[in-house]
Amino acid sequence: MSGGLGRMATDLGERSSYDAASQCCRCGYCEQACPTYVAEGSEVRSARGRNQLVRLLMEKRLERPASAQEALHTCLLCGACQTACYARVPTPDIVLEGRRLLAEKPHWLARVLTRLLAERRGLFELLLKAANLARRLRLSVLARPWLRLAGLPGLAEADARVREAPLVFLRQTLRERPAAARPQWLYFAACGTDYLFPRVGRATVAVLEFLRGPGNFMENDCCGLLAYNYGDLEDARLFARRNIERFEAAGGRGPMVGDCSSCTAFLKSYPQLFLSEPDWRRRAEAFAAAVQDVPEVLAEAELPALKDPPVVTCHNSCRACHGEGLKDEGPRAIRRLAGAAFRELPEADVCCGGAGAFSFRNPDLSDRILRRKIARVAGTGAGVVAASATSCLIQLADGARKYYPECRVVHLSELAAQAIQDAASPGAP
Ligand code: SF4
Ligand code: SF4
Repeated sequence: MSGGLGRMATDLGERSSYDAASQCCRCGYCEQACPTYVAEGSEVRSARGRNQLVRLLMEKRLERPASAQEALHTCLLCGACQTACYARVPTPDIVLEGRRLLAEKPHWLARVLTRLLAERRGLFELLLKAANLARRLRLSVLARPWLRLAGLPGLAEADARVREAPLVFLRQTLRERPAAARPQWLYFAACGTDYLFPRVGRATVAVLEFLRGPGNFMENDCCGLLAYNYGDLEDARLFARRNIERFEAAGGRGPMVGDCSSCTAFLKSYPQLFLSEPDWRRRAEAFAAAVQDVPEVLAEAELPALKDPPVVTCHNSCRACHGEGLKDEGPRAIRRLAGAAFRELPEADVCCGGAGAFSFRNPDLSDRILRRKIARVAGTGAGVVAASATSCLIQLADGARKYYPECRVVHLSELAAQAIQDAASPGAP
């Protein structure tokens, strides 16, 4: 298949994309796990329906291929279906392969952003700072109608939903740290943490220093997930190769910790990008083996308890629990930090509707999924909900603002860093 992966690394071994899609026996066991199916009740909004559409596309038996477009673009790529599926059908990768098969060109904005990140990061950062300044001055509100008229409703939606607008990015701060001669860890700055939530990155680095001693920032590139999700495999491979080279230049030894689960799950899947390139595949495997996400770092960590913790619950970010298999680690970590103030979140593994840019492109469907999530959070009585991916932080904060303003949204790392700070503060037992 031109322009697609062609072969996939599935949980049952390497398969052609067609065989992977054909593995779906249409049992429907995953239907109730799929948030879009639960929200809409439509077969084409389920994993079974989507797998069937991609298979028909591959067999060239779909009379109007464009009719598959909406079904494939309303998939959250959350992976809940894959967790529920006995055959471990990799629906998110199949859906992405289907999008590529439709020969869709990536949206020009995604393309421009990817090129800027790849070739002109300095210019990208300058433009983002200007945009963030405009947002701080509330000037961007005036631009929203014009963005909609210009065919960029997603950008107007993003402006309305994302409240973070830092003027100092994480990598600027990290570059000021003295380099460790014998680093015990490497830190991979995800773009979301770097450009929207630098406070999360500072918290992660503080926790790593406390737990493991000195370490270094990777000076990494974008992980490539943006390019991968928008159908540009070559750009995704370009970013992957650069990051692998940086990792090797930094000694080629992990752990290499990231704090956006979407990003770390993608880093762990790098070998799939190089199935037909043995040398790069081997290097990608060594790289992927070194990656750690924050929930797995914190799950068994010896950390002090939070002083006077608020009632707190944990949303399991999709790519952590369904992409990396980190289902219990996040809640376990918070239980250790908050003790009796921790509340188990019902449906913690169900997507919040953020899913990268999904909430910007499908605001109504995203909001229906979000309301259910916020209702579950409110049901616990929590004053704080923690998550481990950038898009969850954005989405849950938007949901809390609209439907449950008593609640604050934080990253797992921030709770852990707070506990360390509490223990160090005067008067701590
Ligand atoms: S994806 Fe798996 S669980 Fe869902 S219908 Fe197909 S085989 Fe059944
Ligand atoms: S990845 Fe998520 S939204 Fe897509 S079919 Fe599977 S469960 Fe549904």
